[in-house]
Amino acid sequence: MTSTWTMVNQKHSNPKPKTSIAILGATGSIGTATLSVLSSLGKPWRLIGASAHSKVVELTEIANRHEPHMVVVTSEQCFSRPNLPPGCQFLCGPEHLQTLAEHPEVDTVVAAVVGSAGLHSALCAARAGKRLALANKEALVVAGNLMKEALLAGSGELIPVDSEHSAIFQAIKTGQPREIRRIILTASGGPFRTWTNRQLSEATITDALAHPTWQMGRKITIDSATMMNKALEIIEAKWLFDLPVDKIQVVIHPQSIIHSMVEFSDGSVIAQLSPPDMRLPIQYALTYPQRIVSPYPKLDWTESLNLELIAVDLDRFPAIQLGWEVCSKAGTCGAVVNAANEAAVELFLAGKLRFLQIVEVCQRILEQHNFDPSPDLPYLMELDRWARNETRKWASLN
Ligand code: NAD
Ligand code: MG
Repeated sequence: MTSTWTMVNQKHSNPKPKTSIAILGATGSIGTATLSVLSSLGKPWRLIGASAHSKVVELTEIANRHEPHMVVVTSEQCFSRPNLPPGCQFLCGPEHLQTLAEHPEVDTVVAAVVGSAGLHSALCAARAGKRLALANKEALVVAGNLMKEALLAGSGELIPVDSEHSAIFQAIKTGQPREIRRIILTASGGPFRTWTNRQLSEATITDALAHPTWQMGRKITIDSATMMNKALEIIEAKWLFDLPVDKIQVVIHPQSIIHSMVEFSDGSVIAQLSPPDMRLPIQYALTYPQRIVSPYPKLDWTESLNLELIAVDLDRFPAIQLGWEVCSKAGTCGAVVNAANEAAVELFLAGKLRFLQIVEVCQRILEQHNFDPSPDLPYLMELDRWARNETRKWASLN
């Protein structure tokens, strides 16, 4: 099947700026960065709608500052209408992520909900033919095939927001699909890059939340510490760029300046570099195919950069191997590992699972599941619930 980036390239023979934005997960780290990008871009970019799960006060502030037409609170505990500006519609309930994703005035949906909770709305946006600026990598991990079908059905387009995939999306245009030898995803290595296995066995929540280069939400910060984030990104890259597992490599790059690379058949390697700041890939996804002057930090070429590239240690970070395994088996594997990981991260953050058990439980649950090579959405959702329950059971016994 055509890769999502080929679909986007084909579309952009006639670029018309897409400037009417909905942010799903507007109160999170990516959501907040997107609002900052919108403020700096100014008109004609404007916020049409935004959602938050439970941070109603923050969502109200966003509504007062950006004056969207609609805000959505997705948690079940919605109470009375907050103090919103006149003309701002207030909707309650998770089903209204779809209302935002399909809203006729919206042309770009920033999918910044964390976890598989963001899948359904990402599918809706793709099917509705929107530009999907995708931060929610879990949507592709859980249902990459269905996401591609939805994009094809709706003539939607997917522009990756994840910094590594944004880098590859930019670098890959310099060649043809058949000329790609491999892609190389960079990984900061997280807070435990130099820790021994013994130290890792005693890693605390505070240790794991102390990411050296990126400020992010709690779930992805823990994923970076286990390197499950890179495993998810391997799977994300498979679906985005239509690549087999042996063409997706990982290298440790502690400075987080080289965001990823594409190696072509002649041996040339094309990389994208910039200081670690998510506002840049977010702006690129919003303004694509244009590049617009940005106020974000730039590299200083008068100073030594000292960029390191170090081989990944698969013994200390078995999540990478798990990522390759899921990538090659596909089918239901992504949904199972993703749900087990989401549950395991919650348990770790609640003090109910040790750090090294996060990846261990994901491996166990993957082995136990009832594999299907081409699952439909209901079966993926059933497995999502099953894997979360099994993870909780395993944690209570270990
Ligand atoms: P976050 O925890 O900071 O924010 C999550 C957002 O989703 C919040 O607005 C929250 O209200 C909303 N949300 C939470 N649970 C929800 C639910 N059940 N239903 C609906 N909405 C819900 O997370 P983040 O760090 O901004 O990450 C968001 C996504 O972007 C993740 O998939 C992550 O992997 C990806 N991503 C993040 C970064 C980063 O720098 N933070 C970088 C690359 C990719
Ligand atoms: Mg990333």
